[in-house]
Amino acid sequence: MRPRRGLDSSSVWAQRVRQLEQRLRTKEERIVVLETENAVLHLKLAEYQGLAGRCTSEVLQLYAAHGQQMKFQRSSAVTQLHVAIKRLKQDLKSLHSFALELSKDFQRQSKTCLYQVLAAVQGIQLQNEAMQMFQIKAFDLEQSLQEVTERYEKEKQKRKALHNSLIELRGNIRVHCRIRPLLPFDDAAGHSQDRQRSFSEKVAYAADDETILVKCSRPGHASVNKTFQFERVYNDLESQDAIFADVAPLLTSLLDGYNVCIMAYGQTGSGKTYTMLGPQLEGNLAFTTEEESELGIIPRATQEVFRLLSEKPPGSYWVEVSVVEVYNNEIFDLLAKDSCGKVFGIKRDVVTTREGKSDVPLLTHETVENASEFLHLVNKGLHLRVTHPTLVHAHSSRSHLVVTLNITTVVFGDNFGILWEDEQTSQRINKEASFTFTQKMRDNISTSSSRASSPVQLEATEKMKQVKTRLQLVDLAGSECVGMSGVTGAALRETSFINRSLSALADVLGAIAEQRAHIPYRNSKLTHLLQDSVGGDAKLLVMLCISPGQKYLTESMQSLGFGTRARQVQRGQVKKKNFPVPSKGK
Ligand code: ADP
Ligand code: MG
Repeated sequence: MRPRRGLDSSSVWAQRVRQLEQRLRTKEERIVVLETENAVLHLKLAEYQGLAGRCTSEVLQLYAAHGQQMKFQRSSAVTQLHVAIKRLKQDLKSLHSFALELSKDFQRQSKTCLYQVLAAVQGIQLQNEAMQMFQIKAFDLEQSLQEVTERYEKEKQKRKALHNSLIELRGNIRVHCRIRPLLPFDDAAGHSQDRQRSFSEKVAYAADDETILVKCSRPGHASVNKTFQFERVYNDLESQDAIFADVAPLLTSLLDGYNVCIMAYGQTGSGKTYTMLGPQLEGNLAFTTEEESELGIIPRATQEVFRLLSEKPPGSYWVEVSVVEVYNNEIFDLLAKDSCGKVFGIKRDVVTTREGKSDVPLLTHETVENASEFLHLVNKGLHLRVTHPTLVHAHSSRSHLVVTLNITTVVFGDNFGILWEDEQTSQRINKEASFTFTQKMRDNISTSSSRASSPVQLEATEKMKQVKTRLQLVDLAGSECVGMSGVTGAALRETSFINRSLSALADVLGAIAEQRAHIPYRNSKLTHLLQDSVGGDAKLLVMLCISPGQKYLTESMQSLGFGTRARQVQRGQVKKKNFPVPSKGK
């Protein structure tokens, strides 16, 4: 066996070598082919590498050119943009700082405003609270005011009634007597010294406040020792102030609705004009304190009337003045003016109206707003007053001077005491009127209510009433006897007219005293003119003026007789009327 196996394996090995050789050859052939192909490919690669290198340089060139161009373009735009950006940045920066400032400022301001608003709100709150308090207080005050007003009105009525009772108790006709001091002209010039001494000897004295004593014993004459009683007697030292103090209560009556008359009676030179007007009135009207203390009843009464009126609502009253003189039984209007506005006395007549009141048609009535306007008018009128020198006194007035104040008050409804209950209505009416309230009230009331243009006016006018009261202030002419004055002719006629009018006055007072049905007011122009302020409810004050010298004894006795007679009037009235006496507890 063994040799076979040896032969077989060598052939196999030979075959195997052959096969391997064959495969090697094939592989070598394949390597040659591949090397060839590789060479070709290397060639081609080299070729393409060359081409790529050329292309790359071209691309690089182009890229460089493009880059340069872009760089150029970009550099100019960028510069511009840069500048703009820079500017914008600056603007932005300043804007930013401005906005910052603004916002800070705004914050500051809004803070301040906030504080202010807060303070204002607090203030308003406080004010509101205060206002509410005030409203409550005002309401309370209004209520208490209303109550007080009501009580005041009641008290006013009571006061008025009591005052009137008091005045009536004192007498609706009262007589006061004033003795003037002895004056240089009381000496009887031209007579012997003894005669002079006895003439200027004092025979009339004020024994006390109510009694005057006349005591005189002359050789060849029956001696006189007589006393007279009056409501008040003033001695020669008593001032104008003291005289007026007793007159003033009558003016309260005047404003309560009663007519009042104050007259000075006495012989020439006894101090009538001094008592009624005072010595200064005919000068200028700007008084010194000293002059003011010398003012008489007329200026003082007017001041008092305006003072009392000023307590009433404005526009609810007006005052008209007339000044007349009664000379030789004729009435002269001393405020009448001619067409040139010059004042001169015009003769007027006195008549009795249907209502039985005395009236002087066409008499000049001037409206006055205050006492100095009034004095100015009286002063004007006085310049026209007829004077005539007699032996008694060089500037004696030979006429009766009658100064009249007509006071009209507007009152509501039937309640005489309540003036302008409705103050608001007064104000409303005031607003509506283009002319003064006083004028309108006068027009509306004195004509018909249809003239009142608005419903408010109409309603107010229907409720309103006018109340007229009159104050007559009279400086009578001298009451001396004809023989004594030593006058004749025209002056004698004057004196006789004066005496007649004064005795007519005495008759009127006598008739009132006896309560006669007919009072002879019309017997003289003087009494006719004074009719409404003498007698009835009117209050009359007669101021007897007495010269104290022996020289005037007869005249003084005559005047005292007149006063006593007038005083009896009052006594008679009081007794008959039996007025209630106000008790102290009331
Ligand atoms: P009648 O008006 O009565 O004629 P008057 O008033 O003119 O009198 O007075 C005459 C004079 O007496 C005047 O000069 C006046 O100044 C003066 N006289 C009057 N009464 C007084 C008095 N009481 N005090 C001072 N002088 C008076
Ligand atoms: Mg006189």
